[in-house]
Amino acid sequence: MNTDAMCEKVIQRNPNEPEFHQAVKEVFETLGPVLDKHPEFRAAKILERIAEPERLIMFRVPWQDDRGEVHINRGYRIEMNSAIGPYKGGLRFHPTVNLSILKFLAFEQVFKNSLTTLPMGGGKGGSDFDPKGKSDSEVMRFCQSFMCELFRHIGPDTDVPAGDIGVGGREIGFLFGMYKRLRNEFTGVLTGKGRNWGGSLIRPEATGYGQVYFAAEMLATRKKEFKGLKALVSGSGNVAQYAVEKVNALGGKVITMSDSNGFIMDEEGINAEKLAYVMDLKNVKRGRISEYVKKYTKAKYQAIDPSLDHNPLWAVKADVALPAATQNEVNGKDAQNLVKNGVFCVSEGSNMPTTPEGAKVFLENKVLYGPGKAANAGGVATSGLEMSQNSIRYSWTREEVDQKLHGIMKSIHKNCLEAAEKYGMPGNYVAGANIAGFLKVATSMLDQGLV
Ligand code: NDP
Repeated sequence: MNTDAMCEKVIQRNPNEPEFHQAVKEVFETLGPVLDKHPEFRAAKILERIAEPERLIMFRVPWQDDRGEVHINRGYRIEMNSAIGPYKGGLRFHPTVNLSILKFLAFEQVFKNSLTTLPMGGGKGGSDFDPKGKSDSEVMRFCQSFMCELFRHIGPDTDVPAGDIGVGGREIGFLFGMYKRLRNEFTGVLTGKGRNWGGSLIRPEATGYGQVYFAAEMLATRKKEFKGLKALVSGSGNVAQYAVEKVNALGGKVITMSDSNGFIMDEEGINAEKLAYVMDLKNVKRGRISEYVKKYTKAKYQAIDPSLDHNPLWAVKADVALPAATQNEVNGKDAQNLVKNGVFCVSEGSNMPTTPEGAKVFLENKVLYGPGKAANAGGVATSGLEMSQNSIRYSWTREEVDQKLHGIMKSIHKNCLEAAEKYGMPGNYVAGANIAGFLKVATSMLDQGLV
C-alpha cells in the first residue's frame, strides 16, 4: 500500500476529524522515501500503528459556577505513543476543543518529542471549557473536577501533561494541587509548575525563545541574522510574548500582535516596556489586545473581519513571520500575501498554523519555513528538562536551562536539514522534521515488538 492509500484508510477509520486527517496527511506524504528504504517499517505496519492512539480517555467534568449553576464539560487525554518515553504533551482548555483537534495535536507531539532528543512519548489532552471571563474560583473548581478523573491515568513515569492554550501557570497550579491531594505524593507529574514547587526556570519562556532560536538558525543558513529585521507575531499569549522578548534581544523589531478579536500594528516596534504592558494586560488583567492602542496611541488596531478570505495581519510588510496563536491561522492567500510583502522566513510557534495550501506557497517560493513540530519544540524540550530536574531533585540555573534549550534547538535544526538532504528534499524543513522525528519512533516500535 502506498502512503496515499494508508492516509485514505486513516480518514475512513476516523470520520469527521478534519484536523487529524490534515496532520496525518502532512506527515505521511513525506514518508514515501523512508518506507522505500526501510521495507521493515511497511511489513510491521508502523504507519498504520502510529496513527492509532494507544489509549483514548474521555470523561465528564461537572462543576459549579459562582452563582451555583451546574455546568458539564468534556475532558480528554489522548495517549498517542509511548515508544520512546512516557506520554508527554499539553492540556488545552478552549471551547473549540474536540477529538479531532486533540488527536492532531497528539499525533504532532509524537514527532516533535522525538526531535527534541529527549525520552518522551506523545500525548495531548484538554477540555472544551472556556476559561475566558471565569473567576479564579471557577477556574479552580473546574481544574479540580478535571483532575478528579485525570489523576488515575497519569503519573511521572506514565503520562506527564503540561500547559497549552488556556492552560498557564494558574491552571497548572490548581491541577497539581488536586493531583497531590488525591495521590498523597509530590511528584513531577505536570510540567510548567511554579518555581517554588518544582517548576523549571525558562519553562514559561521556552516555546517562544525556541521558536526564535530556530528562526535564527534558518536565517544563518542564508548568512542573515535578526538584527535590523522586522517580524510579525500573531497571538499575545505565552508563546507570542516570549517570541517578542527574544526577537528584541536579538536586535529585531516586532510590529504586530493579536488575539481572537483582532490585531495591533506598531511600526515603532513592541519594545521591552510595551511588552511588559502586554504581559500585564494578558496575564494579570486578562484584557483584550485592542486596549494596547489606548495606551500607545501611534499604534493601530484592526478587528477581525470574518467576511475576509485572509487575515490582514499577514499582509503587513515585514521580513519574518512568527505565528503563535492557533491552528490553520495562515491560509493560502495569507501565505501569498506574506511572500508578496517580503517575508522570507516563517518559524511556527503555534501547532499546524499553516494550511496545506499555505505550506505549498512557502515551499514553492523557497521561504525558510520551519514547521511547528520542529520550531516550537523548545517548550516540550524544556518540560523534559523540568522532568529531569524533578527526578534528581535539583534545579538548574536560568543560564544552564537556556543554554540547553538553545543547544536542543540547534540540534533539531541540524537534524531536520540532514534528514531532508539524505532523503532527497534538501532545504525542506517540513520533510526533514517528519522524517527525523519518525525514524527514532519507528525503530523503537520495531525493537519493542507488536504492542
Ligand atoms: P495562550 O492561551 O497563552 O495564547 C493563545 C493566543 O492565541 C491568545 O492570544 C489567543 O487569543 C490566541 N488565539 C487562540 N485561539 C485563537 C483563535 N481561534 N483565533 C485567533 N486567535 C486565537 O496559548 P499558548 O501561547 O500557550 O499557545 C499558542 C499556540 O502555541 C498554540 O497553537 C499551542 O498549541 C502552541 N504551543 C504552545 C506551547 C506552550 O508551551 N505553551 C508549546 C508548543 C506549542 P485570546 O486571548 O483571544 O483567546
